[in-house]
Amino acid sequence: MKSYRKELWYNTPTRRQLVNITHQVQECIIESGIKEGLCLVNAMHITSSIFINDDESGLHHDYEVWLEKLAPEKPYSQYHHNGFEDNADAHLKRTVMGREVVVAVTNGQLDFGPWEQIFYGEFDGKRRKRVLVKIIGE
Ligand code: ZN
Repeated sequence: MKSYRKELWYNTPTRRQLVNITHQVQECIIESGIKEGLCLVNAMHITSSIFINDDESGLHHDYEVWLEKLAPEKPYSQYHHNGFEDNADAHLKRTVMGREVVVAVTNGQLDFGPWEQIFYGEFDGKRRKRVLVKIIGE
């Protein structure tokens, strides 16, 4: 069995952003040389997410509105976590949107259903943060 590990780095210009990272993950699979196996992708920070959904701008707007209803960024004082930080909302948004995805690798490709794309969800950006890609198989 082969094993491959890579860290992808992101630094979003805004506090919240959704980034389609499907192409970079596929590049990792090509680099790994693995044709059949499993690909794990996880955020390495507790204020960002990895999730799979549609790359459609209306839906991305809907996520922003929905997440702001569930865990509004402001006022910062509404959260106990915000003593020395202001990112309690980002921790909560991360929990809702998930830590990781696992995708089957078949014939050297991400084995997706229709319209599936992998996203990095940033909820406390404007700094360098990492995503782990681990691929196992043969
Ligand atoms: Zn925090």
